[in-house]
Amino acid sequence: MFNIKPFFNQLMQPTCILCEAKAHHTLGICADCWQDLPWQALSGCPQCGLPASGNTCGSCLTDPPFFDATHALFEYAYPIDALLQALKYQHALHLARLFAAISLKHVSASDVDCVLPMPMHPARIQQRGFNQSLELAKRITKLLHKPLATHHCQRIRNTPPQASLPLKSRVSNIKAAFTCDDYFVGKHVAIVDDVMTSGASLNELAKTLKAAGAAKVTCWVMARTY
Ligand SMILES: [Zn+2]
Ligand SMILES: [Zn+2]
Repeated sequence: MFNIKPFFNQLMQPTCILCEAKAHHTLGICADCWQDLPWQALSGCPQCGLPASGNTCGSCLTDPPFFDATHALFEYAYPIDALLQALKYQHALHLARLFAAISLKHVSASDVDCVLPMPMHPARIQQRGFNQSLELAKRITKLLHKPLATHHCQRIRNTPPQASLPLKSRVSNIKAAFTCDDYFVGKHVAIVDDVMTSGASLNELAKTLKAAGAAKVTCWVMARTY
């Protein structure tokens, strides 16, 4: 007689996406790998997410960014860097689901009014066929039951990728790159992005949103570089 037990076990015990162990897991990651993930320290600066023993850091005190808070899930380190690159360059959409689910386990978003993915210029979308921040934001809004504000904000300048520039040039590169409508008046906007490095793009977008009347802007990023 045909034995379905091995197939049943396979179904009930999928392997860990990181080490392939057949183990109890959360969201496809086994307990050992889950514990070893480069979780962002809880003591980061609440405004910019950089390590700061839980208080607002010196740089946010002297030269505050336009965004009010930053939630970074992870430090941009192995294996999170590899997973985010797979999402971005190999269109590994199951990873967008994974990051969305982890986000909602770790970030309280009850006072967020809408979610805005970091906009990508139409020419860049056409080139790459994919905006990883939109894919993350779509899945987050689905789980969160909050509106996705994509159509109210555009990237109007097709600037060179921030990652290709030295940190010093990133602020001028991204200047006046976005435009948004009055949808955001009085709203708490959560900007979703995959990686936060200098924060220049997020800051410019937050500046545009605040100028359009947004009450509060939170950066919601999967990983933060230091
Ligand atoms: Zn594992
Ligand atoms: Zn700070």
